[in-house]
Amino acid sequence: MAVVGVLALQGSYNEHMAALRRIGVKGVEVRKPEQLLGVDSLIIPGGESTTMAKLANYHNLFPALREFVGGGKPVWGTCAGLIFLANKAVGIKSGGQELVGGLDCTVHRNFFGSQLQSFETELLVPKLAEKEGGNDTCRGVFIRAPAILEVGSDVEILADCPVPADRPSITVTSTEGAEEIYSKDRVIVAVRQGNILATAFHPELTSDSRWHRFFLDMDKESQTKAFAALSLRSSD
Ligand code: GLN
Repeated sequence: MAVVGVLALQGSYNEHMAALRRIGVKGVEVRKPEQLLGVDSLIIPGGESTTMAKLANYHNLFPALREFVGGGKPVWGTCAGLIFLANKAVGIKSGGQELVGGLDCTVHRNFFGSQLQSFETELLVPKLAEKEGGNDTCRGVFIRAPAILEVGSDVEILADCPVPADRPSITVTSTEGAEEIYSKDRVIVAVRQGNILATAFHPELTSDSRWHRFFLDMDKESQTKAFAALSLRSSD
């Protein structure tokens, strides 16, 4: 059975472990680089991305995390985990922070504002219904949540949501260096790029297991591919 690692430095890793238990899957808490060798996929939870980055640095985890993501094993970042996986993050004060990267997008770290602007909303996610049939909506729990401002062409958008009217106005610096106020009325909150899944909200804080099952299906897909590659090689 696939072993799912959960990065357990800070944040909602207990909730992800519990969500995995609910669907009968073995989760393993990961705190050290060598532990990544023993897992088939990895969840990077929500929490506080600056603190998580400091702890990841302290445990010398960044090189191993980059290798894991680059090696094609499934990785899911929720909220702060999404920030970790982005190639570029904006809205970070004083000196920036280290990112794992791999996901071709620009994320705004606190797009929806502070703790006080945390909210819940219904999201339309056709991909969830495609996999499981039935309901194509899910409850999105957004806590000091980031959002994705731009994605590369390989990134599939799974969900977006309306920009709340009380969100503080934010300026975005484009790649050409020009500053502009974010003016679209919707913003991206869930994406997939190959082995990477990322959500700006927290499915682990709800009783809905479909996102965890969606991720496990990615895990199964990647194991089938690895097996196929292995059998091709042995039949050479
Ligand atoms: N915006 C937070 C950060 O920068 C993430 C919040 C969350 O994970 N709930 O880390």
